[in-house]
Amino acid sequence: MNNDQYFYLFADCIPVKGATRSVICDLGRTEIHFIPNSLYSILLETRKYTYTDLIKKLNLNKDDNKLKEYFKFLIDSELGTWVDDIEKFPEIDTKWESPSLISNAIIDVRYIIHDFDNIFRQLADLGCEDVQIRFYETASYELIDSIMGYLKSSSIKSVEFLIKYSDTVNNIKQLMLLTKKHPRISILCIHSSPNNKVVSHEDFVTLDGMGRIYFIKEIIGSSKSCGQINHLSFSYESLHDFFENTKFNGCLNGKISIDENGEIRNCPSLNKSFGNVKQSPLKEVLANQKAKEYWNISKDQIESCKDCEFRYICTDCRAYIENPDNIYSKPLKCGYNPYTNEWEPWSNNPLKKKAIKYYELNHL
Ligand code: SF4
Ligand code: SF4
Repeated sequence: MNNDQYFYLFADCIPVKGATRSVICDLGRTEIHFIPNSLYSILLETRKYTYTDLIKKLNLNKDDNKLKEYFKFLIDSELGTWVDDIEKFPEIDTKWESPSLISNAIIDVRYIIHDFDNIFRQLADLGCEDVQIRFYETASYELIDSIMGYLKSSSIKSVEFLIKYSDTVNNIKQLMLLTKKHPRISILCIHSSPNNKVVSHEDFVTLDGMGRIYFIKEIIGSSKSCGQINHLSFSYESLHDFFENTKFNGCLNGKISIDENGEIRNCPSLNKSFGNVKQSPLKEVLANQKAKEYWNISKDQIESCKDCEFRYICTDCRAYIENPDNIYSKPLKCGYNPYTNEWEPWSNNPLKKKAIKYYELNHL
């Protein structure tokens, strides 16, 4: 480095400021790096000033070790480099656009088996690519096979299944054969299982190229199980999702759902129904602005989340919130405190007791 160079933070490494610390989201490498807020402030200036001018701007001594250490950390972490002409390295375009009205859908099933053929056709017409089907009771291999059969010439790209464990759905080989036959099954998650187990593809090398299969002990007994937020629900794998989160709702934007009774909602846990799928075409429902009222609520508008360094890699939940009377209140099922940087089990927080009672979540 010479003193007349600029520090270039790579375009897909995006700093996000929190209340007490910041992160750099390295979206290319799918990593996050914690940095102090003082470094975040410096990074806002590095495109404007060479190293020498930056020292003057910050009123620092040119041998200031802290600044040198900061840049050493950034270089060692391969987050940026020194360049002579910063204009040759444009900033990333943060625009977010989608060619489809609907990107993803949830379909809940308990006792009523919906008309999947009809629903899939409507979803494909709306441009939907990803579907999650949640069986609160069990489902046979034949039922899953027949549901997937409706997708033969559909543009829907992936289907994730959550299915309750039972004697009729516990055979790993059978599950693997299903994912082999239907490559669009991205995940087969068997909930309420006796054990947690991730099925390793190496166990069945001949059945390569399949979706993931895993068994979890967690009971997913109704839509009330949804909305948990923890570090495992963070996603920083795509620039597209990251920039969507900066402007729109991380869960509800572009989503439509059909609950276990066929009621059409933005998400199955939200109160408002916009008709039953037996009578109301999805396209008609989406003409109603009310069906999209949560789509534009971004994390920058939500209490606590707007000060959280994870806000653009974190999903959101507007169905279970800390204050049911304030749609901008923090997701109820998040235990992170951005002001102390500590995680605690969300249900232990005495301030959440009232909302837990309101949503009748005590059993969880
Ligand atoms: S809004 Fe909450 S409950 Fe609804 S789908 Fe999203 S995370 Fe689940
Ligand atoms: S405070 Fe908000 S942004 Fe931060 S982890 Fe919790 S839900 Fe996500």
